[in-house]
Amino acid sequence: MKATRLIAALGLCLVMQTSAAGTAFVRDPFDEQVDALVREGFERPAQALVTLKQLQLEHAAVPDEVRVLLQAIGSIEARTGGAVRAGAAAEQLLALASDGPGSRAVAASNLVRAMVAENAGQPDVAAALAQSTLAAFEAGCPGAAPNPAGPETRSCDYRSAWRVRQLLAQRAMSMGVPATATIHTQAGLALAEWAGDARRQSSNLSTLAMLAQGRGEPGTAQRLMGHAKRLAAQTGDPVQRAGVSGGEARLASMQGDHKASLQAWEEALALAVQANAPRLEAQMLTNLSDAYSRLARPADALRAAERALAIVRRHSDLRGERVLINNIGIAKIGLGRIAEGRLDLARLLEMWQQSGEAGRQAETLLEFGEALAAAGDARGALELYHRERALSAELMRMNRSAALKDLQTRNDAEARQRDIELLGRDNALKTEALANRDLLQRLWWLLAAVMLLAIVLVTLLYRRVRDTHQKLAASHVQLQTQSERDPLTNLANRRHFQAVMEAATGRDGQSVGFEGALLLVDIDHFKRVNDVHGHGAGDQVLVEVAKRLNEAVRSDDLVVRWGGEEFLILAPRAAPEQAEQMAARVLRILGETPITVGTESLRVTASIGYARFPLPPYSAEVPWEQAINLADMALYTAKNQGRNRAVGMVSSTASTREALRSLEADFDQAWREGRVTLLQTPGPQAQDTLRAA
Ligand code: GH3
Ligand code: MG
Ligand code: MG
Repeated sequence: MKATRLIAALGLCLVMQTSAAGTAFVRDPFDEQVDALVREGFERPAQALVTLKQLQLEHAAVPDEVRVLLQAIGSIEARTGGAVRAGAAAEQLLALASDGPGSRAVAASNLVRAMVAENAGQPDVAAALAQSTLAAFEAGCPGAAPNPAGPETRSCDYRSAWRVRQLLAQRAMSMGVPATATIHTQAGLALAEWAGDARRQSSNLSTLAMLAQGRGEPGTAQRLMGHAKRLAAQTGDPVQRAGVSGGEARLASMQGDHKASLQAWEEALALAVQANAPRLEAQMLTNLSDAYSRLARPADALRAAERALAIVRRHSDLRGERVLINNIGIAKIGLGRIAEGRLDLARLLEMWQQSGEAGRQAETLLEFGEALAAAGDARGALELYHRERALSAELMRMNRSAALKDLQTRNDAEARQRDIELLGRDNALKTEALANRDLLQRLWWLLAAVMLLAIVLVTLLYRRVRDTHQKLAASHVQLQTQSERDPLTNLANRRHFQAVMEAATGRDGQSVGFEGALLLVDIDHFKRVNDVHGHGAGDQVLVEVAKRLNEAVRSDDLVVRWGGEEFLILAPRAAPEQAEQMAARVLRILGETPITVGTESLRVTASIGYARFPLPPYSAEVPWEQAINLADMALYTAKNQGRNRAVGMVSSTASTREALRSLEADFDQAWREGRVTLLQTPGPQAQDTLRAA
């Protein structure tokens, strides 16, 4: 059990060691060639670029190689002031990246831009761009994290990765963070060691030596520098050796050994000359002039700087030129050639002005002022000091006004924002007002609609009520009609007659007396009809009698069923003789023709009592009730006289209503005494004898 685990653990260790070591570096002649051309390009860019472009044509089919060539072209252009052409190369690299999987092409593009920024004196931009490329370039390198940009499996691009580390280290040093600079330099060294690249190793070691010195480790610094020198010697490349000598010179200077420093710079210069590398020579001369200057040897400093200036101008290296003019001017002042020095100063200030770096003018004024003071030109020094003050003040003022402008812009923006907000609020209010108006309008419409509906409803209701009312009235009339009509014979009943009388003469005889003829008709022995033929037959007889009575009278006369088998005829406009004729007609129409009931033929006669008011000769006013009573008296007489006859009261001696009333009390006696005159009319086949009962 334990043994198995141990073996497994050992196996794991082996795997880990293999992967930690990474794949071995394989030297690629193409990459080597390009690397050499890039190095050469620093001194002779035109030639190197021609060769690289030739190679680009030859290798056009291989995107990876095109990328390496474009990056090389871009880096040469970037380091020799061809910023625009370097930018074009960066663009081409991006285009290459869009053609296929190309995180490395993007990285190459960014690295070229980083170098352009570095050359333009923008270390921040350069470092940021460089940092972004690191993962892509270190993919496949020993100790590198897997490339997050994609699963591209490729060999380590140690040269690019190394260059990125170098840029990052330089940035860290200028920022005063030596620990970070050390980490990047060591990472670069590891890459160079892995690739067996002595040149780059020696450069890293030289840098690490200075970093060690900075940490206060002169022993380590010395040892590292010795190692760097040995490796540079191994390369047999004077350029590399010159670089390391320069490092040695800096280290010596840091250690305060200016003589050793000067000696190292002179050695470096000699190597640059030997290498036929004029730009390197110019760099070394510049550093040498600085060293002479520090040693207060202005003449030597001037000579070195002027030599360098000639070279720099040939290569149109503006940055180098500015440093050198600065050194020359200071050296001239140191030599007492103050007017010339001031001319250099003027040129320098103009150059800063042209490059838009006014801030550097102030620095330059201070440096020249110090030099003038050292040379004993107190007035000149003071003047420069004042100029520097004025310039700084102007700069501050400009900064301030820029800040003010900024503030103003911000304020304007805020004011505009406020205006926009106000406008927005105003718009919202207007919109709301419009919406309200719309709502109000709708409300009005709604109200109008409701009112219209109400009117329609009220009209409908009114009509219905009116109709109902009319129907009610009609039904009332009908009801009234029905209540004043006899259902069997359809004649007016006693109630109707009463109403007619009241309308004509006033209630209870309180007003005018009754005028017209009244006939009371009573069927003779009607009981017998009922008894012999049945009640139904009696009804039929009543209906027929009613019909015949209606036929016997005029249209403005009224036939009333007075009760049972008794009828009343009112003839309001009948003349006295007409009453008698009317009675005769009724007797005839009833008695002449028998009434057919079913199969039976019944002979029906009636007795009639009648009178016409006012009664002659006195024409006393009598109320209608009394008039009926008097007619009834006459009917009674007719019955007594044997039936089937009419008895009419044609005159009376009673001259007043009261006299008539006493006559009512005993009608028979009054007739016998002659107070009343009666006229008898016999019915068909009746005996025409009128005799007292
Ligand atoms: P008189 O000659 O004396 O008048 O003899 P009468 O039989 O006609 O008179 P009476 O008053 O003795 O009888 C009236 C009868 O009329 C009694 C009643 O049954 C009958 N009668 C009253 N109203 C109606 C009715 O509507 N239909 C029928 N069939 N008979 C009725
Ligand atoms: Mg009767
Ligand atoms: Mg009768």
